[in-house]
Amino acid sequence: MTKDNVAAKTALVISAHAADFVWRCGGAIALHAAMGYRVTVVCLSFGERGESAKLWKQPGMTLDRVKAARRAEAEKAAAALGVHDLISFDLGDYPLRLTDEDKYRLVDVIRDVQPAFMMSHSQYDPYNTDHMYATQVALETRMIAQAWGHNPGQKVLGAPQLYLFEPHQTEQMGWKPDVFLDITSVWDRKRAAIECMEGQEHLWEFYTRVAENRANHFMRNSGGQSGGRAAKYAEGFQSVFPRTVDEL
Ligand SMILES: [Zn+2]
Repeated sequence: MTKDNVAAKTALVISAHAADFVWRCGGAIALHAAMGYRVTVVCLSFGERGESAKLWKQPGMTLDRVKAARRAEAEKAAAALGVHDLISFDLGDYPLRLTDEDKYRLVDVIRDVQPAFMMSHSQYDPYNTDHMYATQVALETRMIAQAWGHNPGQKVLGAPQLYLFEPHQTEQMGWKPDVFLDITSVWDRKRAAIECMEGQEHLWEFYTRVAENRANHFMRNSGGQSGGRAAKYAEGFQSVFPRTVDEL
């Protein structure tokens, strides 16, 4: 059996805007890609209106030019992370809105990918309602993808975990991590992807510090000074669903 015939593990990231997947779970993407997972990233919008301030400050800027620049940045970042498939829905932002047809398109992607795990934003974000809307959509489309009566004959979805990635102002979002992932081995890839986001240079160092802080929490929660494993960079996630185990 050749490698191509072995069913690869898969993961799916649902990102409200083009850059969110880079800051918030770029390490998880790069790490799992390195492990052989096929990671699909859906960007529901390019963040062209609400998350492209630096581009809009250039004279003569238009919506189409901003979108083209954001698409190019996202594609470059996805390549740096080893994303298998980057799908841009181009639905507009501030506000992000999905019709039922848009949701069914996302359900088709979920069923097609059959992810081992999914990722999206925090469930609450008063600063950026697009983010919490994307999570609502992720939950809704996950549910529809599990329904045997939706497009009978398609392969229905199992029960992949939905990990919520870290929002910008953590404490304000009611977001509480219950998983820390060591991304030290792929940090250079995440940093390279971060640096593709030229329109948001003010965030590069901020998200480097976040990764360093989470690495400290990784060590504390893996045993601290009594045998904890050191990590230089980590990402935190909050899981929505319980885990099923045979041993604690
Ligand atoms: Zn965003």
